[in-house]
Amino acid sequence: MSIAEKFRSISPSEFFYRNKEIAGFANPARALYQSVRELVENALDATDAHGILPDISIAIERDYHKPNVYRIAVKDNGIGVPENYIPDAFGKVLYSSKYVLRQTRGLFGLGAKMVILYGQITVGEPAEITSATINSKNIYMYKLQIDIRENKPIIIERMLWPNKTGWHGTIVRVAIEGDWGKAKQKVLEYIRRTAIVTPYANIILKTPDGEIKVYKRATDKIPPPPRETKPHPHGVDIEMLKTMISETKAQALVEFLAEEFQGVGKVIAERFIKTYGFDPNANPKALSKDDLERLVKALREFDEFRKPRADHLSPLGAELIKIGLNTILKPEFVDAITRKPVVYEGHPLIVEVGVAYGGAIEPLEEPQLLRFANKIPLLYDEKTDVAWKVVSENIDWSYYGLSFPAPIAILVHICGTKIPYKGLGKESIAEVPVIEKEIEEGVRAVARSLKLYLTRKRKEEEALRKAITIIKYIPEVANAMTIFVKTNPEHIDKEFLELKLFELVKSKFSDAVRNISSLKDIAIPVE
Ligand code: ADP
Ligand code: MG
Repeated sequence: MSIAEKFRSISPSEFFYRNKEIAGFANPARALYQSVRELVENALDATDAHGILPDISIAIERDYHKPNVYRIAVKDNGIGVPENYIPDAFGKVLYSSKYVLRQTRGLFGLGAKMVILYGQITVGEPAEITSATINSKNIYMYKLQIDIRENKPIIIERMLWPNKTGWHGTIVRVAIEGDWGKAKQKVLEYIRRTAIVTPYANIILKTPDGEIKVYKRATDKIPPPPRETKPHPHGVDIEMLKTMISETKAQALVEFLAEEFQGVGKVIAERFIKTYGFDPNANPKALSKDDLERLVKALREFDEFRKPRADHLSPLGAELIKIGLNTILKPEFVDAITRKPVVYEGHPLIVEVGVAYGGAIEPLEEPQLLRFANKIPLLYDEKTDVAWKVVSENIDWSYYGLSFPAPIAILVHICGTKIPYKGLGKESIAEVPVIEKEIEEGVRAVARSLKLYLTRKRKEEEALRKAITIIKYIPEVANAMTIFVKTNPEHIDKEFLELKLFELVKSKFSDAVRNISSLKDIAIPVE
């Protein structure tokens, strides 16, 4: 006798509710960290990606009546969420404004909803979203929960009031079960690293311990916002092609290729079609399954398309990286480089690398690695990240004049429209050869610059030591000389001699001794 299996499908909300750890909500500590992260990333996406200098405040408060309950509020001065989109944006899993080809921190249409979902199942209070778009006459507030079975928002309360001050931005408030004791170090580090890559932001964090961390804007320079782009033929797959065909207005294949892809003009489209024997006038919507498969294969392999463009990406630029590293790490030396764009699976990708050395940086047995992808700090799973492989295995630091423990931090920033994260928690990046090579070249470039600095510094120190040794004996020598020239008809003054000798030594070691102004500082006096 067999028992019939029961089949049913589950909604995206239910899926993530059952698989919280995939999205980074494995336990209360991790959930608290991930919640702060998702809300801060949304806040930043709503500001800098639209050319707004971010003002972001984060408050995490302990609820003294309910054990392990924390209230998180994140406020930004961003573009806001249009009123009619608020419920779905915060109450429907896999609903996003970022499902376009554009460099953003968000990606999966999941973050805010996971926070709200997690709060709902652990604490049960509705989330509160307050928002106003730019020039909105009103400010809107929604209290909502998520219908997990149906994957849709349940609106508990809606309010609006006149926007008298012309405010725009978003405030998200949620209560979740957390563990501040265990999450604290990661949350603080996350915010600190966010401040490094967004030196143009004001960030205020209020912790449950009542501590207030302020990261003040260090520059008004903001990287040019990322722009939306069309897919490059080398990055398409069959599903993407089907979607593009269903959405296109083009009637003929040649037109479709030239209009919907980047890197393909009319001429190249025609040449492509000829090379592979397609019909230029075929209606793309009428292509058979076989044709589609053949087309994808051909699009991916044809090598005469123009290279994917990277001008819609938003790298930080060497200048901002240096400002960020200087402001937060207070080192004695920094340098940074933005590498030229490369292509990863048809998507442009830019790697940036920075180095900070000495000063307030603590000497450690290994380089301190600061990883970022699309301006998001990556904190967990460091040892499985491609950047770690580069700094710990590929680079021989002794070649660059470093021996550990050394006070060195290496920043690696990868930006692109497709980042090969190892999981939905967005914590580490896979070992893709082209990315590994870019990181390595970048690290070598800044390491060379560090080596030059260290060599110069060592030379100067050495010269200074030598000069000091000589200067110490000037009074002695001058004394001897005055005695020696006593018989000389012309009077030679000891102090005059000392001064002359000092000047002589100074001119020989000009750079090294520039800070020694008086002989008395270091010379051994003659009894
Ligand atoms: P994702 O960030 O991956 O798109 P989220 O669930 O985190 O997914 O957010 C869903 C959508 O809600 C975003 O795409 C965005 O349009 C909107 N949104 C969320 N937070 C904010 C915010 N602080 N300001 C403006 N829009 C926001
Ligand atoms: Mg998000």
